Amino acid sequence: MHPDLEKLLVLQAKDLDLLEVDLELRALLDQVASLDADLERGRQEAEAARRAAAAGVKRREDVEAKVEGLRVLQERRRQRLELAKTARELQALGSELELARSVLAKEEAEWFRAAEQANDLAARADAAAARVAEAEAAQQPAREEIDARQKEVQVRREAAQAARRSAAESVAGPLLARYDRLRSVRAKEVVVALRGDACGACFTAVPMSRRSHIRAGLLLDGCEACGVILYADSEGGSE
Ligand SMILES: [Zn+2]
Repeated sequence: MHPDLEKLLVLQAKDLDLLEVDLELRALLDQVASLDADLERGRQEAEAARRAAAAGVKRREDVEAKVEGLRVLQERRRQRLELAKTARELQALGSELELARSVLAKEEAEWFRAAEQANDLAARADAAAARVAEAEAAQQPAREEIDARQKEVQVRREAAQAARRSAAESVAGPLLARYDRLRSVRAKEVVVALRGDACGACFTAVPMSRRSHIRAGLLLDGCEACGVILYADSEGGSE
């Protein structure tokens, strides 16, 4: 066996351990994303209800201000009526008051409706917020479990990273660079055993002379087709 090969295989084993931990971590993050997605619709509804309730309050306040203004004007008319001297003046102010009173009554009715609607919208917003809180509470146990598992996986990930680093330190620079380059384009193994007379990754035939060099441990050869570093193990490598 080529002296560097053993080190590369150790490094690859550490990388595969790390990959496995990363996949576990990703699965947990996917679970969190799926819980978030389950809440998202309710949150959007609650937000829309909150905005509608705020608009309801604004509308009530606007109508209230209008009614207040009309009441002030009406009070002034009343004062003018008290000071009226001629019958003609009295009659004119009287009919003006009467007209204004019906306008005011209409606006007061409108204010009453706006107040009712604002209450209704506020109740709906409260209900939507309560539904979100309920859904969040229902997810709590699952989230806590995911969180605990995430912490546990994170600890293993750090250990796997440390193991990877120390395995990488024992591989010579140029070979490590070659290995890392291969790993950046291939998801899994980049140091692959021969299968009979072919590359174990892509099954392209490897010429006899190179195979015998690989078996003799003289050469760290790559597959000409897919680029993986080939080696001969005890089973797949015999002819
Ligand atoms: Zn190949």
